[in-house]
Amino acid sequence: MADELRHRKLAQTSEDPDASLLLSEDETISHDGPLVDSYGRHIKNLRISVTDKCNFRCVYCMPAEGLPWLPRADILTFEEITRIARVAVGLGIEQIRLTGGEPLVRRDIADLVAMLSAIPGLRSLSLTTNGVLLGRLARPLAEAGLTRINVSLDSLMREKFTQLTRRDALDQVLAGLEELEKYPTIHPIKINAVAMRGYTESEVLDFVALARRKAYSVRWIEFMPLDADQIWRKEDILTGGEIKDIIEAGYGPLVPVKTDDPSETARRYTFDDGVGEVGFINPVSEPFCRWCDRIRITAEGQLRTCLFAHTETDLRAVVRAGDDDEALAHAIRRAVWHKELKHHIGDKRFRRTTRSMSMIGG
Ligand code: SAM
Ligand code: SF4
Repeated sequence: MADELRHRKLAQTSEDPDASLLLSEDETISHDGPLVDSYGRHIKNLRISVTDKCNFRCVYCMPAEGLPWLPRADILTFEEITRIARVAVGLGIEQIRLTGGEPLVRRDIADLVAMLSAIPGLRSLSLTTNGVLLGRLARPLAEAGLTRINVSLDSLMREKFTQLTRRDALDQVLAGLEELEKYPTIHPIKINAVAMRGYTESEVLDFVALARRKAYSVRWIEFMPLDADQIWRKEDILTGGEIKDIIEAGYGPLVPVKTDDPSETARRYTFDDGVGEVGFINPVSEPFCRWCDRIRITAEGQLRTCLFAHTETDLRAVVRAGDDDEALAHAIRRAVWHKELKHHIGDKRFRRTTRSMSMIGG
């Protein structure tokens, strides 16, 4: 079977003219053992986009008018997602995060959470959401077995929130967070804010106050060139270092939170008195590609081994062709083997991908 698989031509789509060269190295890929890439990185983290649609239009992500949504038939069903996830967990994936688009707009999302949380060997099942539907969905998600959550929140001021998301929904998001607190099995609650120069600075200390008042870990993520409108400019990035300086000017030196996990994206800190946690995700100013353990599947089943990848592997084609789990596992192993070394933002070789963030699944 291994030989047959080795020579099987798996569906692969690519924007990269060199992709055909990558495929010829197939024999170097192991057929058992840990899920590992050609640079020795062990892949343990899978992000699955469940929809490309969204009820917000964040300026750093989507155009005001939205995007041409995928036809329903193109999107993986819950059964297809669960099968791919089960095979991936069998290969060594330990953590799955659901994302989108906005994952909570996918109908019956809690049913998918229940299906995934039943996969033996999965250590963590989380979700990234804009939070606007949490008032209604926090409970079913907790009951279905969700263990962690990230809620995106860029401003605590109604006008600015509305300007950034193009939706007047701050109160609903804050109410969603309150509702979430009733379900302690979903822990920790992380708040993610995209850091943009000119928008973020004035509210840094308000977010710090929130992190110290509530059991939320607040993290700032640097703005990346993944916005559909292509407004991203290097000058717009407000780095984690600059935000840390603003906090330390008010609170004194932050105290690093120790971690044994080098693949953790956030540098986490607490305060002198130990109350509250903040974090900085600095993909542009301090790239963490060397320790990256993540892969992603888009809503239509394309496996991407980097946010900025120019090559994708069509897992949906494998699944819908009726191929067995071994073929699916091989397609995942082969894609992982060719995982990109780094994203190249900031150097001359950088080229934007044709997908924007909501079409990938951040
Ligand atoms: N709709 C959900 C949400 O907003 O949380 C999940 C999908 S969203 C694409 C995932 C994360 O990507 C969010 O935290 C969002 O703020 C972040 N994001 C979107 N565009 C970004 C960009 N250009 N740079 C950095 N982060 C971005
Ligand atoms: Fe929607 Fe999330 Fe993109 Fe905002 S960041 S438009 S909430 S997918």
